[in-house]
Amino acid sequence: MNIPYLDLKAMTALHGDEIQKAVADVVGSGWYLQGQAVHQFEQHYAAYIGTRHCIGVANGLDALTLTLRAYKEMGKIADGDEVLVPANTFIATVLAITENKLNPVFIDVDEKTLDLQLDALQQAITPKTKALMLVHLYGRCTYNEAIQTLCEQHGLLLIEDNAQAHGCLYGQQRTGSLGHAACHSFYPGKNLGALGDGGAVTTNDTELADLIRTIANYGFSQKYIATHQGRNSRLDDIQAAALDVKLRYLDQDNQRRIHIAHTYYKEIQNEEIRLPSLMDEGNNVYHIFPVFTARRDELQKHLLSKGIHTLIHYPIPPHQQACYQEWNHLSLPIAETLAHEELSLPLNPTMTDAEVQYVVEATNIKFRV
Ligand SMILES: *Cc1c(COP(=O)(O)O)cnc(C)c1O
Repeated sequence: MNIPYLDLKAMTALHGDEIQKAVADVVGSGWYLQGQAVHQFEQHYAAYIGTRHCIGVANGLDALTLTLRAYKEMGKIADGDEVLVPANTFIATVLAITENKLNPVFIDVDEKTLDLQLDALQQAITPKTKALMLVHLYGRCTYNEAIQTLCEQHGLLLIEDNAQAHGCLYGQQRTGSLGHAACHSFYPGKNLGALGDGGAVTTNDTELADLIRTIANYGFSQKYIATHQGRNSRLDDIQAAALDVKLRYLDQDNQRRIHIAHTYYKEIQNEEIRLPSLMDEGNNVYHIFPVFTARRDELQKHLLSKGIHTLIHYPIPPHQQACYQEWNHLSLPIAETLAHEELSLPLNPTMTDAEVQYVVEATNIKFRV
């Protein structure tokens, strides 16, 4: 068997006819930017997430960057202020902070739940701390009451990075509606993926929403009236039309991911391999299925020899990257261990039961090199 990590062609084909038709309608309409398709998707996505506003932007990094920028314009954060961020996140979360001349404060995570370490979080808070970026990494909801209380006590802005967790639940609420603002990526491989780049911010804060729209549109509060030094960051209508189709199937596609993940949890048994704690159904939408082993590179080679393609999310934590030398000296041992030991097994709605079984069996073999 040959099992790709992700087959985007097959992913699109799952809802292919409807996506083709929706895209063709936009092509025929002559409206390619700021048209009806974007407007409709924004309304549908806001309703789905459970927020008053959704602002489509060009990509997930822009969603994060524009959110912090808007809070700066609102006077809620200023140059040099501190933003708490998990040490094991994708670098985009940190880039949005440094791009805005804010200082990331890296917080290590729990080895089993991958949640932020609460004591480390508490100890890191100073008078300069203004916000917490909460990253629902791998599709796991990492919000909880303790985080909420901490943010309230210290007056912190709670910003969710929901790039990997579209459709994830906390109780009856969706991630993306839990904090002051949430940032979403529609990169093709995400659970809700476009046919190119795309992103969005969701929020109940009307002032923030208006400001992000303004900044993302050259700083124009009305046509050709620039109240801010803006930029150009737009979701386009072709992407919005495709996303609107895929949004209708998101819960169904996530359900298939959850089913596959539960099979992995039940059937993967190898004393050299650890899985993160199993979450209640709905609290994890399994964007990525990570396993951890001290012999990660050997496991990856072993699986590849069986035709199974895997990825690493992520091999180098942000604080150890060459672009962030000022933080290279920091010690964040769990995040560093996770980076050395993580391997992502294939998991997506196009996989067949036979493919899932094949991955289980290959993963359970004692691997030697
Ligand atoms: C994908 C991703 C982003 C960035 O989104 P882009 O659309 O690729 O810019 C940000 N944060 C996390 C956690 C991601 O997984």
